[in-house]
Order: sequence, then structure tokens, then C-alpha cells
Amino acid sequence: MQPFVYNGLPSRVVFGQGTLSGLAAEVEQLDCRRALVLATPQQQEQARKVLEQLGDRGVGLYTEAAMHTPVEVTEHAMRVVEELGADCTVAIGGGSTIGLGKAIALRTGLPQVVIPTTYAGSEMTPILGETRDGIKTTQRTLEVLPETVIYDVDLTLSLPAGMSGTSGINAIAHAVEALYARDRNPVISLMAEEGIAALARSLPVIAADPGNVQARSDALYGAWLCGSCLGAVGMSLHHKLCHTLGGSFDLPHAETHTIVLPHAVAYNAPAAPEAMMRIGRALGCDDPAAGLFDLAKAVVAPTALEEIGLRQEDVERAVEIATRNPYWNPREVEAKGIHRLLSHALVGRRPSSEEGTDR
Ligand code: NAD
Repeated sequence: MQPFVYNGLPSRVVFGQGTLSGLAAEVEQLDCRRALVLATPQQQEQARKVLEQLGDRGVGLYTEAAMHTPVEVTEHAMRVVEELGADCTVAIGGGSTIGLGKAIALRTGLPQVVIPTTYAGSEMTPILGETRDGIKTTQRTLEVLPETVIYDVDLTLSLPAGMSGTSGINAIAHAVEALYARDRNPVISLMAEEGIAALARSLPVIAADPGNVQARSDALYGAWLCGSCLGAVGMSLHHKLCHTLGGSFDLPHAETHTIVLPHAVAYNAPAAPEAMMRIGRALGCDDPAAGLFDLAKAVVAPTALEEIGLRQEDVERAVEIATRNPYWNPREVEAKGIHRLLSHALVGRRPSSEEGTDR
């Protein structure tokens, strides 16, 4: 066994079907009585049900959460926190809503109960990305780690089939990079492999039958595991590329992850044989890069960056930004290889791990 360091993160996780019914008790356990419910405008209805569930422990709703946690939205929400005298937040939604709860916690220290309804994984991380004047900056601090996470399978049934596939592959990306992280450790690697396997078997079922509760349960379980990986160890080339494409070219988060992942894996394959073996084992295939591409196809997700708005003439600039301050990566990040990777991702070519780069 190689030497390692493992940092456990302090959070309470409640997982199951119908677990929302335990919300008021969870808020009570945190010693809170005035919970403010957070959501996006699209999830107002679900937020109202959450407020009902809180009974006299709920003080109101704030349903203007937005993608990439703009500071103007946080400042507006902070005024509502003060007006209502909230003593905790309950975020229901995906990474956008959870980001708002974290941003409020950073400024106030208010405890957070989070009810995730996508597979993005933010609920398990001490990471917050905030956008000011169009620039997103990310920080890692335990102050933003949610105290309590309630996973309720029922609340994920409404996540549209398309979004379920891309959000699930976004989760897989965390586990893939955890397996070759510089600070990887045996506990997180176990969670990563199990997380990839749970999502790989459930996402195609959900694509065909979004109301399949067993598959939804497996996917949410996988998302928890993968989110834990993201919270515990450092990410590499794949996440850097996705941050570049999201931040500088305004490409949608989960779709970008879905398209780039097979190509990032093909790039890193020669430098991370043990990780590739484990990813392949979790996917049930010999070639992890091709396997991830085929999974995206199976869930009817986009597989080419040009489908979601990147243009050929953007590739050069994307390479330049992505290679400027690269994250640590198992294989050296060099411009020529990244250009090739992005050119193939642009048109949606099926990659191969064997060649160490795309075919
Ligand atoms: P999202 O939160 O932006 O949600 C996308 C849309 O789907 C929203 O309109 C939302 O209201 C809707 N939605 C969510 N769940 C639904 C459901 N069950 N039924 C119907 N509609 C539903 O998407 P996301 O991919 O979860 O999050 C992306 C954001 O989260 C990005 O800004 C990303 O950077 C951030 N993120 C942060 C971390 C972290 O650790 N800090 C981790 C992952 C993602």
C-alpha cells in the first residue's frame, strides 16, 4: 500500500425515498427555528412544498438562485435573510441553488440543509465558485460545507431525461479524476469506482424510463459518492478544460462535462494505467475513453462541443486559456495535445484510450 493522507469531511447524509418528511426534524437537530428555503425560479413549486414541510420552522422562500452564483443575487438574498431573521437555509435544487446557500453561509455562518435534485455533487464539497463582473472565482473552505444533506429519490424524478444523463456524467467526471488525483487515497478510490458503476448502470435506464425509481435511487447514490470524491481530492485536466469552456465561452455546465470527459480520459490514459483499469472495470468495458463516449450516446447526450455553441475559431483561445495555469495533471499538459483533444471534442469523434490520444 502506498502512503496516503485521508481527510474526512464532517457532514450528515440522510438518503432514501420520502426522506423530505424528516426535514423539520433535521432543522431542529441543528438547533434552528427560522429556515429560509432557496431555489431557482424553475423549482418554485418544489420549494413551496419544502416550506410546507418545515411547518413553523420555515420563514420564507427565496427563489432567484442563478447559474454560477452571481454576487448580485447573493447580496439580494442576504437582504431577505436579514429581513426575515433566518437562522439557517434549506437549498432545494442543483449546483446553482446549493451555490447560493454556500455563498450565504460564507457571509453569515448560517448552517445549511441541502436537498439535491441533480447529480452535480456540490452538496458534498467545501468548494464555492462565485461570479463577479463576469469572472468566476473558486475557493475551498470548510465554512461552505453543508451541515446536513437530505437525498430524496422522489425529488429527482422530475429531472428531465436529457438533464439526468448529462448531470450524471458530470458526476462521473469527479470520480474519474479522483482515481488519478495526485492526493488520491484508497477510501476515495473505492467510492469513485462504486460511484461510476452505479451511474453507468442507471443512467441508460433513466434515459429510457425517467420514472424508474430503482434506477433513480442508484443514480442518486452514485452522485453522492462522486460528489464526495470532488470534495475530498484535487481535480485535473478535465475540470480545468470544463471551467475554461464554461467561464470563457459560456458553455452549459453538465453538457460540457459530458462531451469533454471521454477526450480528457483518452489524453490521460497513458499516464494513469491503474485509474484506467478501475474506470474500465466500473464501466464494464476495456476502453474507458470509448466507454464514456458510448455512455453519453446511450443517454442521448450531445457528444460534440459544436452542438452546444463552441466554434472552430474558439479552439485556439480555449487551448491558450486552459494551458495558462494548468491544474496538476498525471500527464504533462502541452498545447499541441490539448489542441488535438479539443478539436476532436469539437466535432464529437469517438476517442480511444489505447492510443493515449484520440483516433
Ligand atoms: P443547476 O443547478 O443550474 O440546475 C439546472 C436547472 O435544472 C435549473 O433550472 C434547476 O432549477 C433545474 N432542476 C434541478 N433539479 C431539477 C429537478 N429535479 N426537476 C426539475 N428541474 C430541476 O444545474 P447543476 O448542473 O446541478 O449545477 C451547475 C452549477 O453548479 C454550476 O454553476 C457549477 O459550477 C456548480 N457546481 C458546483 C460544485 C461545487 O462543488 N461547488 C459542484 C458541481 C457543480
